[in-house]
Amino acid sequence: MTGSFDVITIGGGPGGYVAAIRAAQLGLSSACVEAEELGGVCLNWGCIPNGVLLHYAGLVSDIQLHGRELGLRFEGLETDYSVAVARSRRVVRRLVGGVGHLFKKYGVTHIRGYGRLADANTVEVDGSRYRARHIILATGATWNRPEDVGAEGEVDGERIVAYRQGVVQTEVPRSVIVVGAGIVGVEFSHTYNAYGAEVTLVERASQILPLDDTEVAEGLERVFRKRGIQVRKDSALRKVERVGERVRVTIAPAAGGEAETLEADQVLLALGIRPNSSGMGLEQLGIETSHRGGVIIDEALRTRVPHILAVGDLTGKRALASVASHMGLAAAETIAGLPPQRLDYRMMPRISYCKPQGASVGYTEAELQELNIPYRVGRFPLAGNGKALGMNESDGFVKLLVHQKEGELLGMHVLAPEAAELMAEFTLARELEGTPAALFNAVHPHPTLSEAIAEAALDVEGRMLNY
Ligand SMILES: Cc1cc2nc3c(=O)[nH]c(=O)nc-3n(C[C@H](O)[C@H](O)[C@H](O)COP(=O)(O)OP(=O)(O)OC[C@H]3O[C@@H](n4cnc5c(N)ncnc54)[C@H](O)[C@@H]3O)c2cc1C
Repeated sequence: MTGSFDVITIGGGPGGYVAAIRAAQLGLSSACVEAEELGGVCLNWGCIPNGVLLHYAGLVSDIQLHGRELGLRFEGLETDYSVAVARSRRVVRRLVGGVGHLFKKYGVTHIRGYGRLADANTVEVDGSRYRARHIILATGATWNRPEDVGAEGEVDGERIVAYRQGVVQTEVPRSVIVVGAGIVGVEFSHTYNAYGAEVTLVERASQILPLDDTEVAEGLERVFRKRGIQVRKDSALRKVERVGERVRVTIAPAAGGEAETLEADQVLLALGIRPNSSGMGLEQLGIETSHRGGVIIDEALRTRVPHILAVGDLTGKRALASVASHMGLAAAETIAGLPPQRLDYRMMPRISYCKPQGASVGYTEAELQELNIPYRVGRFPLAGNGKALGMNESDGFVKLLVHQKEGELLGMHVLAPEAAELMAEFTLARELEGTPAALFNAVHPHPTLSEAIAEAALDVEGRMLNY
């Protein structure tokens, strides 16, 4: 046995590294096994680098669309996408290094290599064995490969890419077909469009952002269409094939019907993710996975083996770094014997960091109708918000969904610049069991976008002021 710890976490992404640090903070001896770089998908290939690219794309599209109104005079606009990518990699290096420093600061042992369960208390890492009283599985997920689209449909990193290649390639393809219009698909579409690519966005569902509020999705789709992005909804992927230097994609109406082909320089597959649960030694311990490969856990994040917990994308819950980190915190605290946190996955905000940003938290209207939960709507258009008008970004709204009788905050859906920054007001108010009255009684600084939340809360009672 090479070492012995109270807690070994396998996977050093936002779920795993947060769990490992929290366990150490709580006085437990803690180790984290990571096969690649610390920080996982979020820091290396997802939220962080993609966030930088989206920020640059937002600036470029602002200048392209509103430059003249801003008094900027230019003939044509030259952009160099590689500068954005280079900056994104610098930010990645800094943050990944930061996790290493945090490990040293809090006394977490970093074990480099590929970990698997040798038995219920032993983690094997490339031949070495480590004993653990508790184990947290946090191995994340990988992009979904499309099924039955032909062997040629495999990601080759050149003509057929997924997020991991898309986020580091230093040139934007002249034309690209993005398959899958979830958050990752719409974000890449936004970035590549801003940098001049001809973008076709293909989605099997009847709206882009299929999990989100329909008004948010439709609003973003309108913006996309205005900017020249071709949006093909209700379209199922049938085949992906390389044709010389190009790639051909066959799609067909999701409801059945005649197929058609599209061609582009590149295809970016954004078809969701698949948990990294195989090859981990789970079956021999009776740890169950769902048909999609997610490790099945109870409310306290425990697997079938009570001292082995699982967090983050591996569990198939909401695939967000914020969710993974919260699960990591909760897992470490449960192990340390603190009162277990009950996580409400529905109330975790999800954002598409486009321009404008689309943000949703809680129930959508469609879900409330399906569940027969009576609700009221408060809506405020950004056309009545001074800050948004000043920013020239008044094409959006804040929509608040509230229980008809009890006034409980059920959901908030926003299409606005910096919508992500507005979401914490809702989640905090809900955490404190606030009602719309709390949202409009709290004084909001003026002029700010957050005033639109207060106005939407007023609108729940039919007394909106500024529109
Ligand atoms: C393009 C993109 C953009 C995104 N943007 C956002 C965003 O803006 N906001 C947001 O909240 N979320 C975002 N996400 C989602 C977010 O990145 C993930 O939800 C998050 O990284 C999940 O964290 P995790 O710790 O569960 O897993 P991961 O981040 O996947 O980390 C798992 C780690 O485990 C390691 N590992 C796997 N198997 C083993 C093994 N057997 N032994 C040792 N190590 C192993 C992997 O190398 C990896 O480092 C984005 C994702 C993508 C792809």
